[in-house]
Amino acid sequence: MSVNDNASIHRVSHEIKRRRLQVLRVTDLTPRMRRITLGGEQLEGFISIGSDDHIKLLFACSPEEQAALDGFEMGNEGVRPTMREYTPRRVDLAAGELDIDFVLHGDGPASTWAAQAQTGQFLNIAGPRSSMVVPDIFDSYLLVGDETAIPAIARRLEELPATRKVLAVIEIEDAQEQQPLATQAQLEVIWVPRHQQDLLAVVKDLTLPEGQLYAWVALEKALTRKTKRLLIDEKGVNEDLIKAAAYWRLDPHDDE
Ligand SMILES: Cc1cc2nc3c(=O)[nH]c(=O)nc-3n(C[C@H](O)[C@H](O)[C@H](O)COP(=O)(O)OP(=O)(O)OC[C@H]3O[C@@H](n4cnc5c(N)ncnc54)[C@H](O)[C@@H]3O)c2cc1C
Repeated sequence: MSVNDNASIHRVSHEIKRRRLQVLRVTDLTPRMRRITLGGEQLEGFISIGSDDHIKLLFACSPEEQAALDGFEMGNEGVRPTMREYTPRRVDLAAGELDIDFVLHGDGPASTWAAQAQTGQFLNIAGPRSSMVVPDIFDSYLLVGDETAIPAIARRLEELPATRKVLAVIEIEDAQEQQPLATQAQLEVIWVPRHQQDLLAVVKDLTLPEGQLYAWVALEKALTRKTKRLLIDEKGVNEDLIKAAAYWRLDPHDDE
């Protein structure tokens, strides 16, 4: 069984569509996490079937980018709007709502936009381009992330049944960033305040759940890489059954 095995974990492509959506609500979940609920006619047909799907949020950081945004279709050449990737946290087409949860980390087009967002404003989004579907075929799950990964972790937990064991290790700024996580699964959550504990040390000391394990990691780029190596080299996790993704970069120019 591997991440590329179509009979188990598989990728499903979607038509990439750009949508101009309107802010319906702004809700502060924690001091650093803000939920923005979007809606509007163009939400119709939005599909997100993978718990770690991402959409692109489009921002104009210059007049040229604004012109590009006004006429933007995915696939256009030339100047493009600034794009950032976010998880569709909740989609309810019947209610016409899409939630996106933003970490308010400071400067950056997405975080700055979320910090000032108000009902009635517009946001352009595109995607998801595809979904990685992880069917519930594993005995247990290890989910390691930081605040940016909480939307994807929360979605995964909502999908899993009572028969599964899940260990979630979540690095947060401080205790105020803990969020309630709803699931039927047998869940243990370890919250790791980043200024008090070292995430890698916590992962190193973990007792992993029994049975065939699927591991999912989403952190800052360097930490993602180190966590993945540690899981393979020191915790004996099968490399084929780990999905590790850099969710943000300390150095945003590091596109390697
Ligand atoms: C698949 C995927 C799904 C994601 N889903 C979400 C989500 O649902 N919610 C969410 O909040 N984020 C999510 N992220 C992370 C988000 O895309 C990044 O944090 C992004 O860099 C934010 O863009 P920005 O414009 O605010 O800042 P940028 O312009 O990208 O960066 C500006 C500065 O802020 C720093 N920075 C960026 N992010 C953080 C952070 N989280 N903490 C501290 N410093 C930071 C950078 O190092 C840089 O110095 C996801 C990323 C991926 C790849």
